[in-house]
Amino acid sequence: MLVINSGSSSLKYQLVDPDSGVARATGNVERIGEGSSSVADHGAALRRAFDTLADDGIDLRVCGLAAVGHRVVHGGQEFFRPTLLDDAVIGRLEALSELAPLHNPPALKGIEVARKLLPDVPHIAVFDTAFFHDLPPAAATYAIDRELAERWRIRRYGFHGTSHRYVSERAAAFLDRPRGDLKQIVLHLGNGCSASAIAGTRPVDTSMGLTPLEGLVMGTRSGDIDPSVVSYLWHTAKMGVDEVESMLNQRSGVWGLAGERDFRRLREMIESGDDAAQLAYSVFIHRLRKYIGAYLAVLGHTDVISFTAGIGENDAAVRRDAVAGLEGLGIALDQRRNLGGGKGQIARISKDGSPIAVLVVPTNEELAIARDCVSVLAGC
Ligand code: ADP
Repeated sequence: MLVINSGSSSLKYQLVDPDSGVARATGNVERIGEGSSSVADHGAALRRAFDTLADDGIDLRVCGLAAVGHRVVHGGQEFFRPTLLDDAVIGRLEALSELAPLHNPPALKGIEVARKLLPDVPHIAVFDTAFFHDLPPAAATYAIDRELAERWRIRRYGFHGTSHRYVSERAAAFLDRPRGDLKQIVLHLGNGCSASAIAGTRPVDTSMGLTPLEGLVMGTRSGDIDPSVVSYLWHTAKMGVDEVESMLNQRSGVWGLAGERDFRRLREMIESGDDAAQLAYSVFIHRLRKYIGAYLAVLGHTDVISFTAGIGENDAAVRRDAVAGLEGLGIALDQRRNLGGGKGQIARISKDGSPIAVLVVPTNEELAIARDCVSVLAGC
C-alpha cells in the first residue's frame, strides 16, 4: 500500500506492507507552495515523491502495489468508512471542502494527481473524522440554535481519529486486555493536538470540533477561545473574518505566544530565561491538564492514559507536567521510566501500583490507513 498524507504545506508518504507493518519507503516533501521552495503545489510534490522512490529503485507501477490510501481530514456527516474513490465520490468530497477549507483541498489535489500517475490501482480515502462519527449526542452537539446547526451541519466532528483508534488498540494489546473492557484517554500531541475519551471501542468525547481548531493549545492553533473574540476583532480591529480565521489557525498557539512552535526549541528558550516561551508552555500545559481532568470525569473510571505523536512521544517534561500532582486521582508517574520512555517503542511510564496506567504509544497513522484500505479491498 502507498499511503499519501497531504497537509497544507507538506506531503508525507509511506510505502508499507499492511500485514507486517514494515515500511519499505517513507518520505516527506515540505514547504510546498512557499516562495523559497521549488515545489509549487501538491501535484509537483507527488511527482517529486515518485522520483525519489524511483531513485531508490522502487517503480510503483511494477512493485506489486495493491492500492493507494489517502488521508482526508474532513468526511463531514456523509463519509465515515474508508471509501473507494471514483469521480462521483470526489465530486461529493469537493462539496465538503466548504466545511474544511484549510484541510481538504490539499488532499483533493493529491488524489487528483495520484490517480493520474497511478490509474490502474484503486485509490481509497480514509477520514480523520471517521472514528468519531458516533460520538454520543451530548458530546457531539453544540448548544446553539438547533435548526441552524442542522441546516449547516454544525456539530463536533473530531479529528486525528485514525491515530486515536490505533493508539487505543495498541494500548489494549500492550496491557493484554480486551479493548472493550478498558476506559482510555488518548493525548495526541503533535503540531496539531487533540485529546479523546474512549469507553471500550467507542469514543465518548474528543477535543476537536467542527474543525481541528477547537480544544487543546497547538503549535500554531489557539484551541478553545471565547467565540466573541472573532466578532470583537471584526468590530474593533476591523479585521475580516478570513484574517481572523488565519490568525487563529496559523499565528496562534505556542507560536502566537512565543514565536516558536517546535517544543525542542521552546525548551531551550525557557532554559535561557525567555518569559514568553515560559508563558506559552504554561498555557499549553494548563489546557492539557484541564482536558485530562474533564475526561476523567466524563469516563468516571479510567484505566489508561496514552501519550502519542511528536511531543507526546518525545517530550518527557510535557508528560511529567501534564499529570504532576494527580496521584489523588490515581495517576502516579515513574519519573525514571518517563525519562526513558518512548524512543519509538511502546512503554509504561507509570509506577507499577498506579491505578491508572500511563503509556507512551508511538502512533502510526500510515499503517492504520493501509490496514483500513485492506478492509475496503476485501469487500471489493
Ligand atoms: P504532525 O504529524 O502533526 O506534523 P508530529 O506528530 O510529527 O506533527 O509532531 C511534530 C512536533 O513534535 C514538532 O513540532 C515538535 O514540537 C515536537 N517534537 C518532535 N520531536 C521532539 C522532541 N524530541 N522533543 C520535543 N518535541 C518534539
